[in-house]
Formats: sequence, structure tokens, C-alpha cells
Amino acid sequence: MTVSSFFELCGFLLGLLFGSFLNVCISRLPAHESVVHPRSRCPHCGHAIRWYDNIPLLSWLLLRARCRDCKARISWRYPAVELAVGLWFLLCAARSAALERIYEGTSDLLPSYIYRTEIEIIASLILGFLLIGLMVMDWQTQRLPDAFTLTGIAVGFVLTCVQAFFLPPGEGDIKIDTTHQLRMSSPGSFASQGNVFMTGTEAMIWGRILAICGAALLLFTISAIYKALRKREGMGMGDVKLLAMIAAFLGFGESLFALFIGVVTAAVYGIILLARRRASSQTRLPFGSFLAAGGLFAALFGSRIVDWYANLLH
Ligand SMILES: [Zn+2]
Repeated sequence: MTVSSFFELCGFLLGLLFGSFLNVCISRLPAHESVVHPRSRCPHCGHAIRWYDNIPLLSWLLLRARCRDCKARISWRYPAVELAVGLWFLLCAARSAALERIYEGTSDLLPSYIYRTEIEIIASLILGFLLIGLMVMDWQTQRLPDAFTLTGIAVGFVLTCVQAFFLPPGEGDIKIDTTHQLRMSSPGSFASQGNVFMTGTEAMIWGRILAICGAALLLFTISAIYKALRKREGMGMGDVKLLAMIAAFLGFGESLFALFIGVVTAAVYGIILLARRRASSQTRLPFGSFLAAGGLFAALFGSRIVDWYANLLH
């Protein structure tokens, strides 16, 4: 077994543990209950769950999806969430291992680039945990708790700031045309030739603040227009905060991509429901679930697709 596959296995097992904790959050947060106390109980008979019946994936399989005490069925949601978080962590561990391999193979990469990318991977680890949780919570309870969305916005923004501080001097600086009359230099700039409007670090932090506000404002406007046209609520403030959270972690372009995927998948799902006569035009879809799925998709492929689209426009 190689070092990197051992690292990936550790990522998967850690993901299973976090998935188990996420199940507790999903069951309790929408009802405003503590995620720490009391201990987990069977929702049917109220018996405390023994530690050996609480092992991610395994216990559900060994118990054949039934409570040991009252034989009530245990929802497949529990192992599914554990597996999803496990696979997400595995993916992140694989990205990190690949980065280390490239770094050891070539000495061209700057250590600061490695630090930045590792922080980006940790951010995507946390984002995946939050999005999987929000996806299931909105589907089951039509709620997107602030404990996930607002905390997520703060964590995503702080991690972006940490990444920004690892930018080497001069990288990503926004310069003004030197032939221009205007002479100004950001106090944070190392090269003070009078034409650095913002250093890369400042640009990244301010850019992210704009991205968070822009994403929130965009979805808020869309939901206001929807409400005015259809005379009913299509999206709530929870969805607005969710999109702002995706922007805080990934950036504005990526959050637009997540919104696009969310709208398309929700529309396809709605059409399928209508065609099978399972829904009417009044049925309310858990839009946050589709948006969270779009966020996961954007975390995986978003940066590549945003770059591709930006190149297309040039
Ligand atoms: Zn029971």
C-alpha cells in the first residue's frame, strides 16, 4: 500500500465519522436542538444507541437497517449521508496527495502555491460537508439553518483571506496604465512605482466581499421578481444565504455556475413530477437542495468551467 492510498483511506474513514456527526446535525438543527446533548436515541422507542450500534455504515448493514431494541426501520438516509461525506473527503485527500506528488516531482512550484492550494482543498472539504447537510435538510424539512449557512459564509471568507496572505509579492496586483496621469500606490504594495492600484492580496479579499454581496443580492432580486409575478414565495432567505455561502468559498463566477445547475436540475425534476402527475403547478420544490447540489458540482468543476467561459468571451 502506497503512502498516498493510505492517506486517501484515512480521508475516507475520517469522512465517515464526520458523516455520522452530520446525520446528528441534520436530525436536530432544523428543530433548533443541541447537536451535543443528549446522546443519540432511537426516534421510535427512545432507547439510547449503543456505541457499537453507532459505527458509520457498518452498524446499519449489520443491524439490517433495524433498531436493535424495537426493530423499527432505520432510514437509508443515515448510511447514504455517511458514504457521501466519506467519498467527498476521499476526493479531497486524493487531490492533496496528487499535489504533494507533483511538488516532489518538480521543484518549479513555489511553496506558497502549495500552501494556497492546500488551504483551498481544506475549504472544499468543509464546503462539501456543509452542502451535503443543507441538501438533505432542505429536502426533509424545507429549512436551511443559519448555523450552517451564516457560519459557512464566515468560514469561507476567512479561508479566502488566509489564501490571499500566501500570495507572493506582486502576484495578482491590479495595475493602472502607467501612461495615465493618475499616480497612486496601495500602501500594501512592495513595488511602489505608483501604479499599483491594489495588491493581489487586497484584490482577492475585496473581490470575495463583492462576490458574497453580489451573489446574495442577485438571488434576492430573482426571488423578489418571482414573488411579484407568481404571487407566492419561490425561494426564501435561506436560499439567498446558501448562494452567498457558495460565493464565499468559491467566488462569484462559480456561484453563478452553481445557481445555473440548481435551476436546471430543479426545472427538470419539476417537469418529471408534472409529467408523472405527482405534482401540480402549486407544488413547492426544495430549491435549496438543488442549489446545494449545484454548489457541489461547482466545487468539483466550477473553476475550470468559469475559466473556459471567460476565455470564450475574450
Ligand atoms: Zn428503537
